[in-house]
Amino acid sequence: MKRIPIALVGIGKIARDQHLPAIAADPRFELIACASRNATVEGVRNYPTIEALLAAEPQVQAVSLCSPPQPRFAQARAALAAGKHVMLEKPPGACLSEVRALDEIACTVGRTLFASWHSRHALGVEAARTWLSTQEMRSVHVRWKEDVRRWHPGQAWIWEPGGLGVFDPGINALSIVTRILPREVALVSSTLSIPANRHMPIAADLELFDTAGVPVHVEFDWRHGPQELWEIEVRTADGTLTLSQGGNRLHIDEREVALGSVHEYPSLYSHWRDLIERRESDVDVRPLSLVADAFLLGRREIVEAFIE
Ligand code: NAP
Repeated sequence: MKRIPIALVGIGKIARDQHLPAIAADPRFELIACASRNATVEGVRNYPTIEALLAAEPQVQAVSLCSPPQPRFAQARAALAAGKHVMLEKPPGACLSEVRALDEIACTVGRTLFASWHSRHALGVEAARTWLSTQEMRSVHVRWKEDVRRWHPGQAWIWEPGGLGVFDPGINALSIVTRILPREVALVSSTLSIPANRHMPIAADLELFDTAGVPVHVEFDWRHGPQELWEIEVRTADGTLTLSQGGNRLHIDEREVALGSVHEYPSLYSHWRDLIERRESDVDVRPLSLVADAFLLGRREIVEAFIE
């Protein structure tokens, strides 16, 4: 099987925790180079910027971007302009218009753009979607809470415009909600709790409805600990579905549903490779649209300053 020569950009927590192991385990990709301003990866050629990498490595066919959302647009545009297929970490951009622009560029140059949502590849998500497709839903409750100091230590970008604050993890829940619910959802109200010394929220409370009027209540909080709570509960006429552990465990009432074993990032890379073979892109901006709406409708409450 022919391997696709790939480069990884933005070597930080998620690149090391998930992307490097997933690429190493995938026989359809071969990592040949990385670009990061400060970090390097052993066993491949390293560059300080994507521009230097693209100039020196013409054989690279695909670029996976693990940098924060703010610098990613320029990096993605450069990679597409050089004729590379591109995978974007979530969220696909710092704002919606840049993602639409990238989609257009990818279409123009005939390359694959994959705006990835890793949580959609959690073990229980497709089984939840299938079960819910035949149910009469009554209500949805999302609780996505964790300790920001544990999960985002030293990540200054996350508090800056475009960094999303608590929506950085929260958008994972929204990516699952927009996948498993059978109908579209619309936001009706949003409260954003913003630390006095920061730009982005530390907590958020959202009210949504689906097109049949089923209420969806969403709670995001970064002041939660020590055990994270990443849970979606859907009450239906026939019982309650609970996705927990970020979508990796599924219960229908008290019964735990047996799930497959292909984990999030190996599944993401497999999907990307399939897209490249089919010459297709996969760009679903609905989770980011809901976040943008939460900022558009957001009632702002200033809360205690956040000192890391
Ligand atoms: P991170 O630990 O801060 O790593 C990102 C790396 O990108 C940094 O180490 C840095 O490496 C580089 N970078 C930072 N700012 C940059 C800038 N302005 N220009 C160019 N490069 C820059 O962040 P992360 O947690 O890996 O998150 C990165 C993305 O992955 C985010 O979109 C996040 O939502 C997503 N993600 C994170 C997790 C997680 O558990 N952490 C899980 C899933 C998805 P250099 O200093 O070497 O350039």
